[in-house]
Amino acid sequence: MPERYWPETVILWGAGATKSLGLYATKELIQLVIKINKNDFSFLENKNEKLKNAFKKLVIEDLTKDSKLSKIYDLKALATIINTNTKLNMHELFTMLDQLIENGMGFNAFCNGKTEFLRVERIIGAKRCLILLIEELERLSVQSSPGYMDEELVNPYYQFSKILTELMKEEAKCFEDRGYKRDTRRFYLYSYAIVSFNWDPILLWNIFNAHKEENDNPMYMKDGLKLRLFDDFGTRIASTEIGKDESEIWYTSDESQCKRVNDYKYPSRIVRIGKILFPHGVFGSRICPECGKYITTFGAKWDRLSTEVFGPSVFGGLQKNWKYKTKKECEYRRGAIECPYCGQVTYPYDMPLIMQTLAKKRSIPPLEEIKTEMGLLMKNAKHIIFAGYSLPFDDIMVKTFFMSSISGNDKSKLKCTVVNFDENYSSDVEWLKNEEIEKYIKSNKDKSVVECIENVCDIFNIQNVRISLKGIPDVFMENGKCSKDKIIDLLYPKEYFQEGFPVERD
Ligand SMILES: [Zn+2]
Repeated sequence: MPERYWPETVILWGAGATKSLGLYATKELIQLVIKINKNDFSFLENKNEKLKNAFKKLVIEDLTKDSKLSKIYDLKALATIINTNTKLNMHELFTMLDQLIENGMGFNAFCNGKTEFLRVERIIGAKRCLILLIEELERLSVQSSPGYMDEELVNPYYQFSKILTELMKEEAKCFEDRGYKRDTRRFYLYSYAIVSFNWDPILLWNIFNAHKEENDNPMYMKDGLKLRLFDDFGTRIASTEIGKDESEIWYTSDESQCKRVNDYKYPSRIVRIGKILFPHGVFGSRICPECGKYITTFGAKWDRLSTEVFGPSVFGGLQKNWKYKTKKECEYRRGAIECPYCGQVTYPYDMPLIMQTLAKKRSIPPLEEIKTEMGLLMKNAKHIIFAGYSLPFDDIMVKTFFMSSISGNDKSKLKCTVVNFDENYSSDVEWLKNEEIEKYIKSNKDKSVVECIENVCDIFNIQNVRISLKGIPDVFMENGKCSKDKIIDLLYPKEYFQEGFPVERD
């Protein structure tokens, strides 16, 4: 019998989960891009002065006047395309750009009283520019002072990560007591997994930091071995080591290492591992244009409030703390990361991000691998949490992927939690169920929340769905602090896991 253990709870992490940090949702991003094209920077009004000026300089000077940059990231072409129809949404805009690029076609634009023809090369530049603006806007959105996130805003996510780490320690102890063998999935695989549909690495960075603090001061297992906690990205990603000045190649850990390290014949330490996947890509990652490998960077130092984890910016002022390490990086700058495999220089436009588009996507092998892993996680989960992730109702591909992933599950057993936010909904009820869900749908208070719930109820059995409208992080906060009990109730509710936490693995 092969090992059939998989994380019991899968958390689908979406834009709604990071809204309280200031990150923009797709809908807002397109509005901002339209404003930027009109030279309207009013949205930066309350921003730190240095950051505000840096962003303006990027748009007005670098992307408009710099002879090299303005060709690579073609802001003028993007503005021309958007000006022909400012009602475009992001989904439509990306689909249109992709269609033109795929067909090798240009774009004829009538604006300001005349027509202008953009050749396909400029459409490619416009798409690069759009992705760059999205990355820079998101990086800017979380900075309260240059280079740093706001401690107070990040705190709930940090506490959440600390408690998750605490729970995985408790699980280790309990699984060991139950006699689960440490070189099997039954022992080493976390009972939770995270699938982030956001490109921002903030939750990941907080979990990394919480793990590091634990690993620096580890718990001892029964035979005197230290416990170490790591993350598996569902594919191999190369990087350079955090906290080291050298640019020597370094790898994120994965399950195969875990299996080796936990070998009973060579006891050295005991590793447990959690899955954290970015099926749509993550800021700071690159596909090397020469060797094709997937690489990333987490910055140079362990500072949980630093924005370095977003990777280098094309403009230094927007990523103040970034230090280029290698000779080539220092020479080329502008967001350069040297590939640790082949030494080729990569730039922000080598960043593989999956955008919502109906055009046929060029397959990106490492992201395909992550998607396969995500399908397996969904297929084998007992409990799926939609944490601020709304099934995009205009993207039928996503909904059908979810449907086919869980089609083999016994629907009467598969449980689902939805955490969404409706500011107009106030009730003492912690979790909406059955009739309360139907009542809420009928009241039709917040259209997008209702649509998300309806989509979820199309896929899952409504009897197995519970809903919170408090949003993230409020769903697990109590008196201004992250509550361990609430996190256990969120991830391992008693009504779904009769044995409670830690879960039983038969
Ligand atoms: Zn390379």
